[in-house]
Amino acid sequence: MARYSPSVQNLITKLGSLPGIGGKSAQRLAFHILSLSKKDVDDLTSAIVTAHDQTVKCSCCQNFTDSDPCPICSDSNRDHSIVCVVESPRDVAVFERMHEYRGLYHVLHGIYTPLAGKSMNDITLPQLISRLSSSSEIKEVIVATNQTAEGNATALYISRLVSPSGIKVTRLASGLPMGSDIEYSDDLTLANALKGRITI
Ligand SMILES: [Zn+2]
Repeated sequence: MARYSPSVQNLITKLGSLPGIGGKSAQRLAFHILSLSKKDVDDLTSAIVTAHDQTVKCSCCQNFTDSDPCPICSDSNRDHSIVCVVESPRDVAVFERMHEYRGLYHVLHGIYTPLAGKSMNDITLPQLISRLSSSSEIKEVIVATNQTAEGNATALYISRLVSPSGIKVTRLASGLPMGSDIEYSDDLTLANALKGRITI
């Protein structure tokens, strides 16, 4: 006999396919959803559908946005000569929270891991290269990928691709612990890593 009804099992399976949600969490979430009122469930599903429908990738920085170009790329008060390359939209939020960085961003949506079968076309590296080659404004690219082996390899790869164009490529200073994600660093550590960035 099935442990749960087909509809409940389907919900658990779908929730369990989300990143970071294991089997137990999926069951907990499913039963929490079942305990909600019809209105709360409608609000939740509508929030998911609306966000999905209205969100596009900014054609300039590739971050998720409701308007293209995004508010950061279209802000003339920001420094358009610096582009900070990050792995995910969550990293942009971390930099913005710090209030120390006034340049632009480029969101890779992943990391270059050829050994895991991920090519540069699986992330937004081609878009970065074409953005840099079509802009005379950009003078520096700060590679702020996570301090992991893959993050460092991606930084070197970007440096090799970009440096011949004369654009300076820098990396956040050490101080961020090896293996750590930008997402979990505190504002002061990140601000210091940004200030002490080194050319690669
Ligand atoms: Zn943008």
